[in-house]
Amino acid sequence: MSLLSTRYYSSARLLLASLLLILLLFILLSLLFYHRLQQAQQIVTNVAEQAVPAVLEASQVHDKVKELNLQSELLRNAISQAARARASQQISQIIVQISSLDHQQYVQHQYQQQRLQLIADEARSLDRLIAERLVLQQRSRQWLDKLSQLQQQSQQWTGSSASQPWLLHYSGLLRDITALYSIDRLYNLRQSRTELNNLLTINKQMLSQLSTAERPAAMALSQQLTDTLLAEQGILALREAELSNIAKATGKANFLRSLVTDYASETELNAYQSAASLMQLSQQSSHALARQNQFSVALALAAMLLLLAIMFNTQKRVIKRLKLLNEKVLAGSGFDEDERLFASNDEIAEIARSFTQYSKTVTAQQTALERQSLTDGLTSIANRRHFDSQLRSAVAMAKRIKQPLAIILLDVDHFKAYNDSYGHLAGDDTLKAIANTLANTLQRQIDLVARYGGEEFVCILPNTNPQQALIMAEQLRLEVLALMLPHQASPTAGFITISLGIACLQMGQDISEKILLNQADKALYQAKSQGRNCSVML
Ligand code: GH3
Ligand code: MG
Ligand code: MG
Repeated sequence: MSLLSTRYYSSARLLLASLLLILLLFILLSLLFYHRLQQAQQIVTNVAEQAVPAVLEASQVHDKVKELNLQSELLRNAISQAARARASQQISQIIVQISSLDHQQYVQHQYQQQRLQLIADEARSLDRLIAERLVLQQRSRQWLDKLSQLQQQSQQWTGSSASQPWLLHYSGLLRDITALYSIDRLYNLRQSRTELNNLLTINKQMLSQLSTAERPAAMALSQQLTDTLLAEQGILALREAELSNIAKATGKANFLRSLVTDYASETELNAYQSAASLMQLSQQSSHALARQNQFSVALALAAMLLLLAIMFNTQKRVIKRLKLLNEKVLAGSGFDEDERLFASNDEIAEIARSFTQYSKTVTAQQTALERQSLTDGLTSIANRRHFDSQLRSAVAMAKRIKQPLAIILLDVDHFKAYNDSYGHLAGDDTLKAIANTLANTLQRQIDLVARYGGEEFVCILPNTNPQQALIMAEQLRLEVLALMLPHQASPTAGFITISLGIACLQMGQDISEKILLNQADKALYQAKSQGRNCSVML
C-alpha cells in the first residue's frame, strides 16, 4: 500500500496507446510501400511506353538511313533517267516511312520533322541536278558522235602532200578535244580551253598553206571543229556545265549523307537519352527502395520490440497481478499484505483496494451475523443453538481430557402466573434481569449460560464436580431470589424464584449430552415437584 500516493495511470489506456502506436507504425509502413510500388509501376510504364519504343524506333531509323544512303548513292551515280527516277522515288518513300514512325515520345518531334523535310528538299535538289547531268551527258554524246564523224572525214581526206601538216594538226586537235572527256576538274578544263583555242588559231593559220582547191573543204572541216568545241552548247560549254554539275551533285550528295547521318545520330541520341534518364530514375528509385527497406526493417523491429515490451508489461503488470488478485479473492483475504497488487497505481490496485474494503465489510457482517445467530434476542445471552454446539464440544473435551462436567437446567417458577399478573412486557424485563444475574454469577470464562427456551435457562460448567455444581446452583438460585422481584401470584414465595436441576458427567464417564440433559431435566422436574425454589441433583 506504500505506492498509493504515487500518480495514478491506467493500464488499459497504456495498453491501448501502445497498440495504437503499433497500428500507426504499420499504417506508415503500408503507405511507404504503396508509394514505392507506384514509383516502380511508373518506371515500368515509362520503360514500356518510352524507352523500348525509342530504342526500337532508333534501330528502325538506323536501317532506313542505311537504305537512304544507298539510294542516294544510286541516285548520284544514275546513268539513266529511269534509274534516277527509281532512286528518287525510293528516297521519297523512305523519307515518308521514317516520318511515319512514331515520334510521339520525343520532345524534339517538330524539329526532327523539319530535318526530314530538309532531307527531302535536298534529295529533290540532288535529283534535279542528276536529271540535268543526264541531259548534258546526252548532248555530250551527240557531240562525241560529231567528233567521230569529223574523224572519219579527216581520215578520208585525199588532199595533196602540202595539206598533210594541216591534216596532222587537225587530227591532233580532234584527239585533244576527245581527251576533254577525261578531264574531271574545271580548272584543267579551262587550261585546256586556252590551249585548244591556240591550236585552233594555228590550224586556221595553217589553212593558208593549202591549195585553193583544198582550202574550202579544209575550212569547212575546221569550222565544224570550231563549232563543235566552242558553240554556245558546244563540247567545252557542255563539259564545263557537266563538271560543275558533278561538283554540285557531289556536294549535294555529301550534304544529304551528312544530314541523314545527323538525323540518325539524333534519333539514337534521343533514344539513348530517354533510356539513360529512365535508367537514372530506376537507379534513384532503387536507392530509395534500399533506404526504405532499411527503414522498414527498423520500423518493423521497433514495432516488434514494442509488442514484446507490451506483452512483457501486460504479463508482469496485468496478468500476474490479476491472477494474484483472483487467488486473494478466492482466499477471501490477504489483499493488504501483498505489495505486488499495489506495485502500480492502476485499475488492478483500485480493484484490490475495493476488494479489501469489501472483504472487511463482509468479515464484519459475518462476525455480526454469527454473533447474532448465537445470541438470544431478548436477553442478549447465548441462545439454544449456541448452547447445543457448546455442550457438544464441552462434553467431547471433558471426555478427552477426563475432567468432570456439570450442567444446570433452571426454570422460573410460576411464570405464567407472573405474566398473567404483570403482563408480558414485565415478564420480558424479568427474564432479562434473571439472565443478567445468571451471567454475572458465573465468573469463569469457560462457563456458559444460555436461554434454553421460554422461561428456562441452562448453564454449562466445565471441570465442575457434582458438589461444586450443587454449590453453584444454589448460588444462582439465591442470586435470583436476591433480586427480590415481586411475584404476588406465586404460591412459592412473594418474589420471583427459580428451580434448578443438576446433571454431572463424572470423570471418565461416557454418556452423551442428550442423556446428560435428560438427567438435568429429570432433576428439574423433581425440584418442581419438591415445591420449587430449590436445586436437585439426582
Ligand atoms: P412452573 O412453576 O411449573 O414452571 O409453572 P410455569 O407457569 O412457570 O410453567 P408453564 O410452563 O405453565 O408456563 C410458562 C410460562 O412462561 C408460559 C409463558 O407465557 C411464559 N413465557 C415463556 N416465554 C416467555 C417470554 O419470553 N416472555 C414472557 N413474558 N413470558 C414467557
Ligand atoms: Mg417452563
Ligand atoms: Mg416455569
